Amino acid sequence: MTFSAVKPTSPTPRPAPAHTIVQVALPVPVRRTFDYLPRADQPVTELQPGRRVQVPFGKKQVIGIIAGVAPHSAYGDDKLKTLTALLDDEPALTPPILRLCQWATDYYQHAAGDVLGAALPNQLRNSADGWDERTWRWQLTQKGRLIGLEQLGRAKRQQDAIRLLREHPDGLHQQLLTGFGVQPVILRALADKGLIEQHEDGPARAHWRREQILAESPLTLNEEQKHALAPLDACAEFRVFLLEGVTGSGKTEIYLQAITHCLQQGKQALVLVPEIGLTPQTLHRFQQRFAVPVVSFHSHLTDRERLASWRKARTGAAAILIGTRSALFTPLENLGLIIIDEEHDLSYKQQDGFRYNARDLAIMRGKIENVPVLLGSATPSLESLHNARSGRYVHLALTQRAGNAQQPRFRVLDIRQKPLTHGMAPEMLEAMQQTLQAGRQVLVFINRRGYAPVLMCHDCGWYKECPHCDHRMTCHANPAHLHCHHCNHQERIPRHCEHCKSTDLRPIGMGTERLEDNLTALFPKFPVIRIDRDTTQRKQAMAQHLERIRQGQPCILVGTQMLAKGHHFPRVTLVAICDMDAGLFAADFRATEHTAQLLMQVAGRAGRGDDRGQVILQTHQPGHPLLQTLLAEGYGRFATELLNERKLMGMPPFGHLALLRAESADPRLATGFLQQVSLWLEPLAQAAQVEIWGPAPALMPKKARRYRYQLMLRADQRPALQSVLKQLAQHLEATAGHQLRWSLDVDPVTLD
Ligand code: ADP
Ligand code: ZN
Ligand code: ZN
Repeated sequence: MTFSAVKPTSPTPRPAPAHTIVQVALPVPVRRTFDYLPRADQPVTELQPGRRVQVPFGKKQVIGIIAGVAPHSAYGDDKLKTLTALLDDEPALTPPILRLCQWATDYYQHAAGDVLGAALPNQLRNSADGWDERTWRWQLTQKGRLIGLEQLGRAKRQQDAIRLLREHPDGLHQQLLTGFGVQPVILRALADKGLIEQHEDGPARAHWRREQILAESPLTLNEEQKHALAPLDACAEFRVFLLEGVTGSGKTEIYLQAITHCLQQGKQALVLVPEIGLTPQTLHRFQQRFAVPVVSFHSHLTDRERLASWRKARTGAAAILIGTRSALFTPLENLGLIIIDEEHDLSYKQQDGFRYNARDLAIMRGKIENVPVLLGSATPSLESLHNARSGRYVHLALTQRAGNAQQPRFRVLDIRQKPLTHGMAPEMLEAMQQTLQAGRQVLVFINRRGYAPVLMCHDCGWYKECPHCDHRMTCHANPAHLHCHHCNHQERIPRHCEHCKSTDLRPIGMGTERLEDNLTALFPKFPVIRIDRDTTQRKQAMAQHLERIRQGQPCILVGTQMLAKGHHFPRVTLVAICDMDAGLFAADFRATEHTAQLLMQVAGRAGRGDDRGQVILQTHQPGHPLLQTLLAEGYGRFATELLNERKLMGMPPFGHLALLRAESADPRLATGFLQQVSLWLEPLAQAAQVEIWGPAPALMPKKARRYRYQLMLRADQRPALQSVLKQLAQHLEATAGHQLRWSLDVDPVTLD
């Protein structure tokens, strides 16, 4: 199936076409489009691919996207239903985005409707309201600006509204005003008095002006930065650049200047970042630098706000779009550059439903739109590194920290046989004490939220497992409860052991909450700021934490990997890593790569200001060869060793993987299904030289009441794997029963 070609889909061509058939992609999990008839008042020229339509589906009206038109239907023209409505004045998805979706549908073997749906902001997927609809803004009139508030008498709410609008001379949207407690009746009353009036906003085609790009002057680049920027600025066509720059080397400054160049050509820039809610600083830096409109697109925005950003990007009103994974699909009127910050980050991979990798799709988008793509990281993924080293990408390097900052010093602390206080060696505590006393900040990293990973009976060793998963329940203190981090199941803390009835239940091990408690007791004079998923759920919570840290008073930050991501904490000079040993032994073949990236990223938070930083890593494995290479010779050398290993094993980037996962409440169903699939696949796979491994239980064999198994496919050649996957996907759709959930994951990033 294609999204745009006009060609017959019928296996047995029917006689002369009486009319046009519209092929519509619907948000249903099947790998085909649905045929509809246009209404008489809907001419063919209006049936553009990418345009949203409303159609009857079953008993409901749903929103779909035109994938193409054809002269015939394979399903019999007489049974076809008619389009209810053509939505919007223009297609929501532009030709390049349609091509990208087409490619993703084929590559990830995923349902077209789902892929196209993922490319739309929620509001366009769920509501028939037009994206190009006009919006209205309330603004003060001349009279409203000048009137004395006392003249409004006792109408206090009208006074409040005027005051509010005086703080916002550009006006406010009705929704926003309602949000501030100003009801529509008040607005009408004020309008009647001629104090306020409505202005139409958009569809904003007004373009930003090329001569007014910067709001502040750029930094003077150092020599390395200049070398990195030059080839980027010289490139105006598709090409992938990997900017490998140590933490704090000024990669962001390169992004800013590369974007400046792009804007000077009158083109827009698309910037992908891992998790914007966690790093508001990044967005802030962009907004500060540029005088042109910068809009963002991420999960901390409401659907309406996201649509507003999308619209500005689509119409060309925004110059820069910064967003997380799904921002990738936003149509831009005049794209000139794509940047993917922290390209190694796992959050670029969608882990359910349409399992795409936004980094890989961004590269494909760059190819389709013929624009340069810049990947940046201090710890590039092995895939990107391999591509850069083999010359497929342009490899740019920043080896020094920018400005005055130096790389932090690493110290490996062998804790075998050492007495530990709350899991920390005396040397660690001493270094913390010194740092705090010198007026600096300490970051303590521990990648486990909650109070303790286990609540255990001291008399018999019993501990509580999640009833729905193969996993122990994590003990949380505030509020006190047991929590399964895999399925979210929660329970009260039991009073006795369920096995021997003893009441001596003890939390075993360390989580962020407990560490926070312990450190507060050990360092009573210094505030402890905990940052993990539990303390940052509230909107703005992260921003508030960051603001406190930025004020620079000595304090201890305790947190999970949330703290590792791209933050700039100039006063942190000590990074204390309590325990990363587990990552050295994990079963997943990618675990070592991810552990090393996390370690380097956390370490990279140290000493980003004027004072040199120090990183202390506690370990029971000081001799572990990977740890030795990483710390003594750096990430690049470490990556070389891992790449050599992967080559021997035929694993990515040297071989290619796909994972067929199946899960069901009855384990026999999932295993039986995978066994059958495997038998069916065998001749096909053999002919194409694709290996099949399994079926085997997933790393977590039971999760949320379902038993999970998987079949792995591996091939040296990507096209061979692709051809097998295509046939497999069709087979699965035709044979899998309803009690079973299955999914295909092409290029999985975790094997769980
Ligand atoms: P990265 O993105 O590589 O981690 P940043 O771009 O955040 O690094 O830069 C780290 C710090 O160095 C920032 O405070 C930034 O303002 C500063 N910096 C970057 N480039 C320069 C430069 N050329 N001269 C002076 N300071 C710089
Ligand atoms: Zn017991
Ligand atoms: Zn669970």
